[in-house]
Amino acid sequence: MKVLVCFLLILVSSCKSPLEKSELTVINDRCTSCKTCVYSCQSDAITIINGVAVIDPAKCTQCGKCVEVCPTNAIY
Ligand code: SF4
Ligand code: SF4
Repeated sequence: MKVLVCFLLILVSSCKSPLEKSELTVINDRCTSCKTCVYSCQSDAITIINGVAVIDPAKCTQCGKCVEVCPTNAIY
């Protein structure tokens, strides 16, 4: 019985993690490099590279603030 419970716990935890840590995407054609998202990010996870916002998934906490403030809906 213990083995079955452990197996189920491992299965549930391995299934949840990819969904919880899905990365945000920037649509390059929509980005005007206005930096609104850069200023809104409290994790300092966004930089403008070659005129496009780039999100560092290692720093991003998935708070969603940049998605809310982007005037061109370039981040999802
Ligand atoms: S707020 Fe939107 S348009 Fe402005 S730099 Fe960020 S992703 Fe680009
Ligand atoms: S979701 Fe939050 S932490 Fe991640 S890049 Fe956007 S503002 Fe920064």
